[in-house]
Amino acid sequence: MRPEILQPLFAEVEALKGVGPRLAKALARLKIVRALDLVFHLPSGTIERVRAPAVSHSLVGRIVIVDVTPFQIREGRGRAPTRILARDGEDGVLTLTFFHNPGWAKKQLPMGETRTVMGKLDAYGEELQMVHPEVLEKGAEPLLREPVYPLTEGVTNKRMRELVQAGMERAPELPEWIEPSLKQRKDWTDWRSALARTHSHETSETARNRLVYDELFANQLALLLIRQASRRRRTRPLDGDGSISARLSLPYSLTGAQARVIGEIRGDMAQDRPMLRLLQGDVGSGKTLVALLAMLHAVEAGAQAAMLAPTEILARQHHETLKRQCEAIGVNVAILTGREKGKARESVLMGLADGSIHILVGTHAIFQSKVDYHDLGLIVVDEQHRFGVSQRLLLTEKGRHPPHLLAMTATPIPRTLTLTQYGEMDVSQIDELPPGRQPIETLVVSDSKLGDVIEGLGRHMDAKGQAYWVCPLVEESEAVDAAAAEERARVLRQRFGDARVGLVHGRMKGEEKDAVMTSFAAGRIDVLVATTVIEVGVDVPNATLMIIEGAERFGLAQLHQLRGRVGRGEGKSRCVLLRGSDLSETARARLALMRETNDGFRIAEEDLRLRGPGEILGTRQSGEQGFRLAAPEDVVELAPAAQGDARLLIERDGGLESERGQAARICLYLFERDAAVGLLKGG
Ligand code: ADP
Ligand code: MG
Repeated sequence: MRPEILQPLFAEVEALKGVGPRLAKALARLKIVRALDLVFHLPSGTIERVRAPAVSHSLVGRIVIVDVTPFQIREGRGRAPTRILARDGEDGVLTLTFFHNPGWAKKQLPMGETRTVMGKLDAYGEELQMVHPEVLEKGAEPLLREPVYPLTEGVTNKRMRELVQAGMERAPELPEWIEPSLKQRKDWTDWRSALARTHSHETSETARNRLVYDELFANQLALLLIRQASRRRRTRPLDGDGSISARLSLPYSLTGAQARVIGEIRGDMAQDRPMLRLLQGDVGSGKTLVALLAMLHAVEAGAQAAMLAPTEILARQHHETLKRQCEAIGVNVAILTGREKGKARESVLMGLADGSIHILVGTHAIFQSKVDYHDLGLIVVDEQHRFGVSQRLLLTEKGRHPPHLLAMTATPIPRTLTLTQYGEMDVSQIDELPPGRQPIETLVVSDSKLGDVIEGLGRHMDAKGQAYWVCPLVEESEAVDAAAAEERARVLRQRFGDARVGLVHGRMKGEEKDAVMTSFAAGRIDVLVATTVIEVGVDVPNATLMIIEGAERFGLAQLHQLRGRVGRGEGKSRCVLLRGSDLSETARARLALMRETNDGFRIAEEDLRLRGPGEILGTRQSGEQGFRLAAPEDVVELAPAAQGDARLLIERDGGLESERGQAARICLYLFERDAAVGLLKGG
């Protein structure tokens, strides 16, 4: 239960003075719902103003505070603004311009009376003017510096400052959770004063850093608690004897990296503690085979295994691949997604319950409460970056004994991010591609050359090659994405004939998608026009040409994933990035990087720099909360210290019982890591 001391911060904003439903609704657009969200709504910068006795051309462009005395009004007619002419402290004249609310302006600025105004000084021909200046109450002291906040319609900066201050009144002094020597070394103050300082006119990097650190500390501590709780649990060791996997007939031998990694996994599974392992390997490095071997290891030991995929298409593909390989060796593979209904679903549920199904593949449907396993020993999560930490936690609740967990991800993650997203897991890496792979050649081509690209596609098809054509991503609208893909398919069908061009997008029925994917995999279709539904996992080695339309609209990690659909066999593969005409500097640089390198790791680092971790890790898709305060640079800079600090604390006081431990609990609640606190004994 959340500690008493934090309750006031968790009150809804409407509990604050002067906040009604309308304002609350506006604030909600900024994700500000509770007092807590207000105090953590940090300024994005500060306004600096200059106090001047008089206006002058040298001050143009600055935000100026000046005392003025109005002497003439020029009423605006129609759309023309109302102008109030005023004299400054010397013999200059300032025009105060109002496009709306002239009545208010006249009341605030009575003729012949001196008032203080502030605003940006503009040159209007020879004249000097301010548009919609702020007019101070008589006797009010102007602020030379003021924090500026991210705003939304209906909330001015002034109002936001007041709201934040109202929130601050609910912010208590909190006991200290940071290690004393670290705090001293960093010159940090207590939580509340750091917060107050950040919201004051003297913004301070140091104060902000402390708040960011708190968040990273909560994150690290939560992951360590998850790890600790999972390590405390005992499970049945799964020690396969290799008798089943030996019968597999593979057309190739394992790469050195695959062999090493499967060794690490078998070692983990033979322990009486549940495995918690992350398997990283670039696109095309052969993770599926490692997953299969791990699952067979569980089956050999008499247990069942389940494999979770983020999309229906990927689940079906895995099912096909695994079934093909397993049928011959007497291992039973089934699929369960939202689409299995009625009898089909019943029979899968029965097979799982009586143990006759050894391996289950599917989407999240495989973890619904109605699904009972005879003896689930291993869970594999493919494309883990599509899921979140909390989903990972839920998975291991299934089974008689806590199951072992293997999470796989192709998105190569910079080390510091591994720390913040997977800090509780052990990491294995496949750092080698299967032999014979040739680097994918990437070209960036202007979309004015669309005709040439289509002709090139024709030659590729005539040479018996298959290709993907990915259509531009239109934010938040699958309907629009689908329409664009349909139009592209129509054009290509006109040119190459209906039978050779397939189409798959998110708005199609599951069965339709399957049929198209199957035809493409079997080589009956030459070109597959698609939206990003094919982004992850799809494996058709004979496809060696990837065309991505509107490439500048994709994230780098996403482009890398898409490009990874080709280059999966021994043939030479190509990727054509079609770009629009008006590209920003950054967009150009990003496409150039794609052309230059196939190294997913470098691309991820760069993507992190340009976009932010949420997008890289796909936490947005999963609905998982990212960091509210920490920016990517902060993570790189402060996460290692936060991890060290959290580790020390857990080593000394794993139950968070000591005075500092209690304070750390508060920090966890403050950043809403309640689930992690729940893992403490009696937490
Ligand atoms: P990813 O790591 O992206 O999930 P996949 O498991 O889909 O990669 O493997 C990519 C391709 O490489 C597949 O077609 C697979 O059959 C092939 N492959 C996997 N392991 C090997 C290997 N050791 N030697 C040759 N090809 C392999
Ligand atoms: Mg894969």
